[in-house]
This record gives sequence, structure tokens and C-alpha cells, in this order.
Amino acid sequence: MNIAVIGGGGREHAIIRSLKRSNDVSHIYALPGNGGIAEDAECVAIGAKDLDAIVDFAVEKKLDYVVVAPDDPLVLGLVDMLEEKGIPCFGPNKAAAIIEGSKAFSKKLMKKYEIPTAEYEIFSDMKAALEYIETCPIPTVIKADGLALGKGVIIAETREEARDGLRTIMEDHKFGASGDTVVIEEFLEGPEVSVLSFTDGKVVRPMVSSMDHKRALDGDKGLNTGGMGTVAPNPYYTEEISEQCMEQIFRPTIEAMAAEGRAFKGCLYFGLMLTKDGPKVIEYNSRFGDPETQVVLPLLEGDLLEIMRATTDGTLADVKFSFRDEAACCVVAASDGYPASYEKGFEIKLPEEHEHIYIAGSKLKDGKQVTSGGRVLGVVETAPTLDEAVDKAYAKLGEVHFDNMYFRRDIGAKALAARR
Ligand code: AMP
Repeated sequence: MNIAVIGGGGREHAIIRSLKRSNDVSHIYALPGNGGIAEDAECVAIGAKDLDAIVDFAVEKKLDYVVVAPDDPLVLGLVDMLEEKGIPCFGPNKAAAIIEGSKAFSKKLMKKYEIPTAEYEIFSDMKAALEYIETCPIPTVIKADGLALGKGVIIAETREEARDGLRTIMEDHKFGASGDTVVIEEFLEGPEVSVLSFTDGKVVRPMVSSMDHKRALDGDKGLNTGGMGTVAPNPYYTEEISEQCMEQIFRPTIEAMAAEGRAFKGCLYFGLMLTKDGPKVIEYNSRFGDPETQVVLPLLEGDLLEIMRATTDGTLADVKFSFRDEAACCVVAASDGYPASYEKGFEIKLPEEHEHIYIAGSKLKDGKQVTSGGRVLGVVETAPTLDEAVDKAYAKLGEVHFDNMYFRRDIGAKALAARR
């Protein structure tokens, strides 16, 4: 099969490496891909939001299957446009992708179907929102309704911070139209767990759980980032909790979407918080998470393309796959200064063996890879235990070099402490 993967980050690199091992894949295009992905796929300079150009390309190349990895094209309806041309896709259509595209939608869905989540109010009028903030419990959490590169969430410790946060989102339009509506919700406490799942709209099959490290600095300090590292499985996610999540969250969500006429096909990501009152949904993503994918897919035992196609065809119950009973660790190497300002254009030197180094921000210059983004790459290792996976990932990272390289030194530390 000739397939294309839309997107150009570390997540897409991990997906492509996994797809390369699939039996039925003959050629992979990456739109737009990146300097590292170019080793594994034919990169084509079409951006992930350039929907018309993607569709033209897919038709011209008579593609058999398209994997839509990032949120923007899903929310904008790329899957609908490709399906209209008879090209099957991995990913939800526009009607279903709204579960990530609008937090107001997802909160109302959870309320209607009694799926556990934080208490909330929705506002499109700033005056009403400001009034609410004067009386709501503090800390409080303010979220822009629409997509905001994972940065549209403000945790306000005081009323002053809440007022400022609200003004930034609704008055200064920091996240554009995404902030015309806001969700103000209850502050929850507890360990966070990410669970990606495959679903064909009827059946939901969770993947191995993982733990993200969102802050820029060691000890979970500094600014929020796209993610500085991940480990899998997440030690807080016990067998008992996973069963509870299946009963109270995963299955009810899939059934709720189907009941609303928005059957969700593809990868549904559950961002969960394990509170003292049980697991609650913090957010849904309509796609693979980054950098969760980088630790989950290397543990997959099965044919990724076969699984993806089964989500499209509605035959997910029939596919055999499982996750190796091992641990994985991903340490992200970023450009120093990320997520604020940073320099780029430095040559990246990789060790000879780099099957599990996934490139996120590089481009080719005179035949060499140079840094082109904040998060540059993720080094992933798997091992029978988490201690070993963490040690191996840091050892491998020692063989990677680019000027101004920055990484956290404590990826996995919290998970190891929790297990002990
Ligand atoms: P989100 O983009 O919705 O996942 O939010 C980003 C981060 O903000 C999450 O990973 C949590 O750490 C935090 N967060 C979001 N919602 C809440 C909440 N209701 N209570 C406490 N922390 C939250």
C-alpha cells in the first residue's frame, strides 16, 4: 500500500518507524515530515494545515491510506475531505474531532453521560466570567475552548491571577478565536495518567499507559512545554484503576459519541487525573499524544497499519495485538531556552544506531540535519524494568550532540519513586 502520514514531529516519526514494520506498507510519504523523517519516508513540502494541497496530492498519487496525526487538520475536517475522494484515513472525522476541538463540547458531553470530570461553568461573556471568578473556589482552572497548542490552560492560584488569565484569553485574544469561549473548572489534585486508545467507534482498546513531564525544568518547575519526556507504563495506573476507567470513562465516552451521531474512529487520548474520588477526565485529544506515542509504539506487538485500518473499517475487535510487558523511557532533547526563545540551525550528530531516536525539529541543510525547532528529538529505550529503560535512554542521549542542547535530568524519577 502507498500511504501518507500527515505531520512532521517526533510523534509522526515514531508512527512512521512503526508503520515501516507493517506487512502491507510499500511506500510512505510524510507531509511535510522533517530532516530526520526523511531517512524513513519521502518527505513532501505540504503543510499539515494545507488541506486542499493534501487532498490533491493524495488523489494524484492514488494513495491507499492516509494517517492524520496532528489535531489541526482533524478538527478542520481533513478526514471528511479525503473520504469524499474515496481515500480511507486513520483519524476521526470533523464531527468527532470536536471532542478535542471544543472543550465546551467535551465538558457538556461528560456531564450529559455522567463521565467523571471536574465541575465547570462555560462563559462566552467576559463580564459574566469575571463575576463568577469573584465567588468560585480558588485555585481555579481557566481553559480556552478551542485548540491552543496545548497551552490554553491557566491554573490560577489567586483571584487576581484568575482575572488576569481571563483577560489574556478573552480580551487580549492570546489564543485567537479559540478563547472566545472559556471553560472555568474545579482544580483537581492527584497523579496524572495518559492513556491512548484505539477505537473504531464501537470497541475501545486502550494502549499501555504513560506519564508525561510537561514542565521545562527538573522537579516539574518552569514553563509548560509540549512535553520534555515520558515513561510507560505509568506506575499509578493499577489494574484496578484501569478497569474502573474502562467502565466509567473509556466505554461510556465511545458510546456517548456514537449516541450523539459522532462515532469516533482513530486514536482517542484520555488525559486523566487520579483523584481521591476516583479517576477523572482532564482532557480528551482526538489523536496520538506527543511524546506519549514515542514510548507507547515501541512496546506494541502487532501490525500498526492493520490496527489502524481496522479502526477505519469497524473491525477492531478482530485484530490481534498487545503491549510488551516492559518499560519505555523517552527523554526529549530541546534547544536551550525552549519554550521561550532559542537559537536554531545547529548540526545534529546522532549515533550510528538510532532506530529509537525520533526527530521532532530538524531540517536538512547541505545534506546534514540541523536543528529547526524547540523540541529537537526524543531518545527512547525499552527494557524489562523502568530503571534500566531510564538509564539506557540517558546513556544513549550521551551519544547525541548539537550545540545548545538542553534536556531534563529527572525523566522517570517520579515514576520510579512512586513504584518504590
Ligand atoms: P490540558 O491541556 O487540559 O491537559 O491541561 C494542561 C495541564 O493543566 C494538565 O496536564 C494538568 O496538569 C493541568 N490541568 C488541567 N485541568 C486541570 C484541573 N481541572 N485541575 C488541575 N490541573 C489541571
